[in-house]
Amino acid sequence: MMNIDLGRVEELRELLAEPCKVVVVGHTNPDGDAIGSSLALAEVLTARGHKVTCTLPNNYPYYLRWIPNSENIIIYRNDEDHLTEKALDEADVIVCADMNSLTRADALGEAVAKNSTAKRVLIDHHLFPAEGFDIMFSYPESSSTAFLMYSIIVALYGKEAITTTVATQLYVGIMTDTGNFAFSNLSPELFQAVSVLAGSGIDIPQIYNNIYNSFTEGRARLFGYAINRKMKTLLGGKVAYMSLTEEEMRRFWFQQGDNEGFVNYPLTIKKMKMSAMFTAQQGFIRVSLRSRGDVDVDTFARRYFNGGGHKNAAGGKSFVSMDETIEHYIKSVHEYHEEGLV
Ligand code: 5GP
Ligand code: MN
Repeated sequence: MMNIDLGRVEELRELLAEPCKVVVVGHTNPDGDAIGSSLALAEVLTARGHKVTCTLPNNYPYYLRWIPNSENIIIYRNDEDHLTEKALDEADVIVCADMNSLTRADALGEAVAKNSTAKRVLIDHHLFPAEGFDIMFSYPESSSTAFLMYSIIVALYGKEAITTTVATQLYVGIMTDTGNFAFSNLSPELFQAVSVLAGSGIDIPQIYNNIYNSFTEGRARLFGYAINRKMKTLLGGKVAYMSLTEEEMRRFWFQQGDNEGFVNYPLTIKKMKMSAMFTAQQGFIRVSLRSRGDVDVDTFARRYFNGGGHKNAAGGKSFVSMDETIEHYIKSVHEYHEEGLV
């Protein structure tokens, strides 16, 4: 059950009472939820006379490029014309969506932090929100930021604001962050929201196909390779991990996002409690963690990998070699096990 704070909705309404300049910011390695919820807010506010700029720290995967208006998003890393900095300079309001802290947006977060005049709004569903926001909508019990965004939009402007475009954007976020309605935190209210989205005329099978049946051949082969050759297990098959080096990624014509979802697959094994995926990036290793039930990977990510997220889905970073990262993971899993946490 999630009841958003209507007092805060009124504060936000007041903030947006006159047409103003809004910048919507999402997190690094943006996913369907970050993009869907940002674009939906942008669409609704633009329709009400605001000037809205959506900006992301780095690019998003190819299978999300069809989302309505995603072509208008500015990618800060490629932003040679400094459109983001210009928009931040002029901004009256900065909204951070699907991130609990500016640090989740790396260099873009630093650019936001430099802007001291705009009012800052947080709309997010991760644990442990940072301080420094003027209006906070932090709801870790929400299955996605998109569902939270839906609730805020409807509280502000009513269900009429949910056009087919807005509904498509929100549905992408809800579908991807709930694993197509399979993860925890589903609620009757979520399905009521989805009923409104469905009523707006969105094409649900098409949205599913656009995202889950739109990969490259290389991605399918990389997936087979990762599971067959790279998946290792610990604690008698209760914990798994996989890794991908840059050389392996090149071998399968890797494109950004191609390993998205791999980390979930070991959890299709009945007795599996926790899964990790280590992916080489420029200068560090990206750590993805997933778990089942009581096993808390948010705490695990915080403690061992400078990260965080949700209880059953979290991530972090490692700044040592792949072998050292794996060694650290194995040691950490055993420590966690000794404490009865996995
Ligand atoms: P993914 O494995 O899909 O990259 O991330 C899973 C979850 O963990 C997401 O909710 C994401 O926001 C969070 N997450 C991923 N990487 C990091 C990180 O480096 N730091 C923090 N605090 N959270 C992360
Ligand atoms: Mn999310």
